[in-house]
Amino acid sequence: MKILVTGGAGFIGSAVVRRAIADGHQVVNLDALTYAACLDNVADVAGDPAYVFEHADIRNRAALDGIFSRHRPDAVMHLAAESHVDRSIDGPGAFIETNVNGTYNMLEAARTYWQARGKPAAFRFHHISTDEVYGSLGADGLFTEDTPYAPNSPYSASKAASDHLVRAWHETYGLPVVITNCSNNYGPYHFPEKLVPVVILRALSDLPIPIYGTGDNIRDWLYVEDHADALLTVLQGGRNGRSYNIGGENEVTNLGLVQKLCAILDSKRPAKHSYADLVTFVADRPGHDLRYAIDPTRIRMELGWRPSVTLDQGLEKTVQWYLDNEHWWRALQSRAGVGERLGKQQTA
Ligand code: NAD
Repeated sequence: MKILVTGGAGFIGSAVVRRAIADGHQVVNLDALTYAACLDNVADVAGDPAYVFEHADIRNRAALDGIFSRHRPDAVMHLAAESHVDRSIDGPGAFIETNVNGTYNMLEAARTYWQARGKPAAFRFHHISTDEVYGSLGADGLFTEDTPYAPNSPYSASKAASDHLVRAWHETYGLPVVITNCSNNYGPYHFPEKLVPVVILRALSDLPIPIYGTGDNIRDWLYVEDHADALLTVLQGGRNGRSYNIGGENEVTNLGLVQKLCAILDSKRPAKHSYADLVTFVADRPGHDLRYAIDPTRIRMELGWRPSVTLDQGLEKTVQWYLDNEHWWRALQSRAGVGERLGKQQTA
């Protein structure tokens, strides 16, 4: 099928693009190329006749209409977003403009196109979202698709708003949609300001590894290529109008995750001291959710999907990728505004 992927030059979007092309789909990659994008992420498919890049901004409705009518996609996978929680605290405006207004533009462009083509039932608007829309869990319990929304950061509030818009376009206009809410991703091509690469890259530079608060916050982690696999599974098999939670069943505290990464680095790149000695606790992030954990029963029972790698296997592959791809992360570290953030910790 021909899939219009938004945000395909970002971390997860590029994994989706690479996987979709490998699976034999055609891909139109729509991306505004913000600070978080990197076309090197899709260099492997750039020359493939099944791949097209469209440099466009989802805040620009006219540009979206042009892309729908030129390319006539069978489905949309909407990943373009501002995605960095710390940046949303410092400057929430861009998150509202892209994540809320941009999603509204995408929905209207998709609806106009879908209606003009006679409302094909097979069309899908797949909205990719986060488990952070559910807010924070205590020590017990899991997020199900019926958990009430209670977002706590400007990022998660903007994603929650976009989820509601997608749901409403299905209920009101009948647009065929699926929504997925996924836990934290990690893996190759993860932008250097996010937690896992921050830990690896600061350890390799022998710099303090900052951890918010006491490091007790718990996250569920999913290897990005498993997320891409889950997304294509939901796109093709998910029920119209349904939401699916996607998780790795890998709950770990932030401190535990950092210690795992340090242990892998100790074995791959031994230094005079253990990398875990670099851990430094810093003032907590405001509104920092205590725990996220996904109940993946629906995607497993309906679609037979489960992750292919364990957390330990995925972290090992990820560390090796950063060791092997220094040219990639060095180029991104020098971008404006990124360097000074690398001392901050990030968990989403
Ligand atoms: P990312 O920041 O790495 O990539 C976002 C991409 O969107 C970039 O290529 C950027 O250029 C593009 N973009 C941003 N604003 C745009 C605009 N106005 N118009 C067009 N393109 C624009 O993000 P990511 O981590 O790959 O996340 C992708 C999606 O998955 C997001 O919707 C995010 O909310 C969701 N998600 C992320 C995680 C995670 O752990 N990273 C977990 C669950 C869900």
